[in-house]
Amino acid sequence: MLKFGQITVVATIALLTIGVIDFFFKISPILYVTILLLWFLIVALGSFTMRWQIFTTAFTKGNQNKKQVAITFDDGPNAEFTPQILQILKAYNAKATFFCIGKHIEKYLGIVQQILAEGHTIGNHSYSHATNFGFFRKTRIVQELSKTDALIKKITGSTNTLFRPPYGVTNPSIAKAVKETNHTIIGWNVRSYDTVIKNPTKVLNRLKKRLSPGSIILLHDTHSRCPEIVERLLQFLKKEGYEAVTIETLLTKN
Ligand SMILES: [Zn+2]
Repeated sequence: MLKFGQITVVATIALLTIGVIDFFFKISPILYVTILLLWFLIVALGSFTMRWQIFTTAFTKGNQNKKQVAITFDDGPNAEFTPQILQILKAYNAKATFFCIGKHIEKYLGIVQQILAEGHTIGNHSYSHATNFGFFRKTRIVQELSKTDALIKKITGSTNTLFRPPYGVTNPSIAKAVKETNHTIIGWNVRSYDTVIKNPTKVLNRLKKRLSPGSIILLHDTHSRCPEIVERLLQFLKKEGYEAVTIETLLTKN
């Protein structure tokens, strides 16, 4: 996939070329506007589409040669639903990855400890999960990541390197920030829309249709439907011979 810099260079060259031609033969101004709009559209869509990797490297799937998937939960931990989900994961001997929000970690240290004690992975999902996170400058993003990592370190004793950007947004500021903090960005290739679709069966049908070996599945441990979805998903995975593993295991070569 093209990088942000390359896209900008191509757009600039196109504008300059049209400018030169325009000097000799009159060209409609619509052409300039079209190129600018195209540039804007690609960059805007790219910031919401991590797998395009326009701004930075992001892992959106793992090894496709093994029947393994990584179930990931964003926005927790949640006092009510995370413990229920942990219980279900344990019953199916499944491992998962929880991308936690720093301010929630502060509130529910015990749940984070339980997540780790039961063999799951914790990742950084920013400190505030602010709605305008995509507009934060690099320094503020670095602060958010460091603050959450410090909380994780206090519990785990080890340094976290996994980051999932809020809303799945990547942009030049986030790219610069993770370069500085040395985080690995983890995206997904199977989105459940579990916070939007209120019918668990519909969510499951989406997941069943889309998942394949190496899939990274996005769910949220923040709503009452999640435990049911997880249980039925694990039943399906078991039936199909899939193993639910942590992100680290999924991304391990071999
Ligand atoms: Zn989130």
